[in-house]
Amino acid sequence: MKTALVTGGSRGIGEAVCRRLANEGCFVLINYLNSKEKAEQLAKEIHGTAIQFDVSDMDSVSKAVSDAGKIDLLINNAGISEIDLFTHIPQEKANRIMSINLIGTMNCSRAVLPSMISRKSGCIINISSMWGQCGASCEVDYSASKAGIIGFTKALAKEVAPSGIRVNCVSPGFIMTEMNSRFSQEELEEIRSEIPLGIFGRPEHVADSVAFLASEQSEYITGQVIAVNGGMVI
Ligand code: NAP
Repeated sequence: MKTALVTGGSRGIGEAVCRRLANEGCFVLINYLNSKEKAEQLAKEIHGTAIQFDVSDMDSVSKAVSDAGKIDLLINNAGISEIDLFTHIPQEKANRIMSINLIGTMNCSRAVLPSMISRKSGCIINISSMWGQCGASCEVDYSASKAGIIGFTKALAKEVAPSGIRVNCVSPGFIMTEMNSRFSQEELEEIRSEIPLGIFGRPEHVADSVAFLASEQSEYITGQVIAVNGGMVI
């Protein structure tokens, strides 16, 4: 049985990924930061284990990964966003966005890789965003962190391919989760009108692509970015 570590697995896209990977037969380690009850409830439902750590804290990441034992699949999903003018976002908040979204992705990858390299197998899937591909006004720090994830994915894929490890990226568009709960009904309608397929994404849409990239059906795919955005960014 494969073991998957899903960061930010307690809710939203991460939760859908945990459920999908469990359905595919994986044992899932559900990482969370604050949502203990949700993570533990999910762990019960999918027969996984909830583990608390902050992806931005390398010491906690290293300890959690070493306690976990063999990890076959790492899904770097944990992320935060903030909407405001670039010059209005406090430095501390801007640093937090970068240290969770980008550095957190790098921390978890750094922690799982030595064992994957020695076993000559493993798979890492990073969750970026369409804003990392095309940039979003008023989400400059977020866009930069997500663009960084794409660059990280491509470079790491080249470095670890000779060790039999694949690294890919899923780049979601507008997916209905708590991250987007700040938008009014009117704003949501305006956003929806810009989506060629005319509907918002669901966490399960992202989970489907993650499951594909985690499967043997994608064994010849590495260093790629799969966009799951209803055609919003092409
Ligand atoms: P969400 O509903 O806000 O959930 C965020 C998840 O990240 C939660 O499980 C949260 O854990 C976890 N998290 C946050 N900071 C963490 C930290 N320091 N350490 C560990 N876990 C942490 O977000 P979502 O919409 O599902 O987004 C998931 C990913 O998809 C993010 O990377 C996001 O940028 C990306 N994405 C989302 C959309 C979208 O439209 N929703 C679009 C493109 C990309 P706790 O609840 O335990 O604190």
